[in-house]
Amino acid sequence: MKIIETIQQLREELSKYKRQGHTIGFVPTMGYLHQGHLSLVEQSKKENDQTVVSIFVNPAQFGPGEDFDRYPRDLQMDEQLLKELAVDVVFYPAVKEIYPEGYATYVEVEKWGNVLCGKSRPTHFRGVTTVVLKLLNIVSPTCAYFGRKDAQQAIIIKKMVKDLNLEVTIHTIPIVRDPDGLALSSRNAYLSTEERKAALSLSRALEKAKTEIAHGLRDASAIKDLLRKEIDKYPLITIDYVEVMSLDALEQIKTITLDNTLVAGAIWAGKTRLIDNFILGEI
Ligand code: AMP
Repeated sequence: MKIIETIQQLREELSKYKRQGHTIGFVPTMGYLHQGHLSLVEQSKKENDQTVVSIFVNPAQFGPGEDFDRYPRDLQMDEQLLKELAVDVVFYPAVKEIYPEGYATYVEVEKWGNVLCGKSRPTHFRGVTTVVLKLLNIVSPTCAYFGRKDAQQAIIIKKMVKDLNLEVTIHTIPIVRDPDGLALSSRNAYLSTEERKAALSLSRALEKAKTEIAHGLRDASAIKDLLRKEIDKYPLITIDYVEVMSLDALEQIKTITLDNTLVAGAIWAGKTRLIDNFILGEI
């Protein structure tokens, strides 16, 4: 497994594979890897000749006062996990490599980045789309893999790829959870024991919502009320949002359909912001 820190070296390495006609799967991450990330890597390994994983904590997707500085980092652990999966290349650039002095170009999917998580993190998706576009240009993979845990991110990236005619296939992978249902996240490392217990409020509320929908409930505002009521049972938790949106346009819907619905929530457990969702349909 090669660990490469510069764009030039990465391009040289990947051009060897491309000359041989190999397919390249790409998994962008911010590191501090867990089984959620690894499921993306496993999928890429299955579907491509070569797999590239990037580890880059992207400053552009963190707002002022957010956790960029204290975001968990552990390259040694990440390296070990990726070696065990026989990843071919790890791209581990410094911030200056991606955003050199005077960097000025940003890409944005209008409107789609202002809803859900974009309401409380107004510059977040602009940072995500910018770095993902740059990484896709640098790696030029056949396929790239994203988790449905960040459903809005996956939807926005698919939209960017379509709108900008990028030559890459985006695959999305189901949410990986701890046995008790908590969606795996690098940010779970911030949680105290009490917060960890209370953080389950969101996945439990979503499970209840899913059951109600399975029993025939289709009213989006009833689902949002149910989610709020369930989460409010946990005094340690503050709700950022609960939402029911269309998958294909990221717009609020009144009536749930079984093929075009995203039910999503974000909560604060102390200083830690956590997200979770389920989708009815395909992204
Ligand atoms: P991050 O390192 O948080 O930027 O995540 C990198 C990729 O891993 C993104 O595509 C995430 O959606 C995905 N991911 C993170 N957590 C999970 C999870 N629990 N299940 C599935 N995918 C995940």
